[in-house]
Amino acid sequence: MASLMTDRYLENNRQYARGETLHKAAYPGKQPIQPSKRVAVVACMDARLDVEDLLGLQTGDAHIIRNAGGVINDDAIRCLIISHHLLNTNEIILIHHTRCGMLAFTDDLLKAGLEGDPGASKLLGQATSRAFTSCSKCAAAPAAFHAFRGPIEPLDTPRNEKNIERLQWDVRRGISSIVNHPWIPTTGPDAVTVRGFIYDVDSGKLEEVSYPGPMGSIG
Ligand SMILES: [Zn+2]
Repeated sequence: MASLMTDRYLENNRQYARGETLHKAAYPGKQPIQPSKRVAVVACMDARLDVEDLLGLQTGDAHIIRNAGGVINDDAIRCLIISHHLLNTNEIILIHHTRCGMLAFTDDLLKAGLEGDPGASKLLGQATSRAFTSCSKCAAAPAAFHAFRGPIEPLDTPRNEKNIERLQWDVRRGISSIVNHPWIPTTGPDAVTVRGFIYDVDSGKLEEVSYPGPMGSIG
């Protein structure tokens, strides 16, 4: 399945990594509601990612869905279904990135800290170089934080073989969640394409994640 715009945005990203500015900030005037390049991007909320800049997107080109990690959770799926079936997008781009905060904790650790576990609070404080203040209350929601699987590391650790593998696992889990969803077609005349990437916050470059492949181990 061809994903022509994704390839063009990858070329844009190579220019971005060389220091060229492709995204124009100027408001271009009246535009249709449907994204003109038929693209939907799911990316992490990290402050170092300027999604429009790093892909060379212009206003009106694409939907951009962002959350902590760029994970495919219930809300991301909701957005992608609306984006495709009502607003005509047919290429999905997932972006995780190096030094992501989601590599530095586990769901259990954060929940325990929030609920009042002093040991968890201490570890979270050490990991984030910030006093972690517990709320000492339980909560039913969010049901999950979707921290990335695998052994945790200090916040903002530079890229290495292990954390790149953990990022790749989660990109693949996201792709799998999308392509196996009954309301997101990947074959036939209404098919969407899905490709996943890791953005290197130090170099500005996107690297594609192969799919299918390993999706994680707790070891
Ligand atoms: Zn992140």
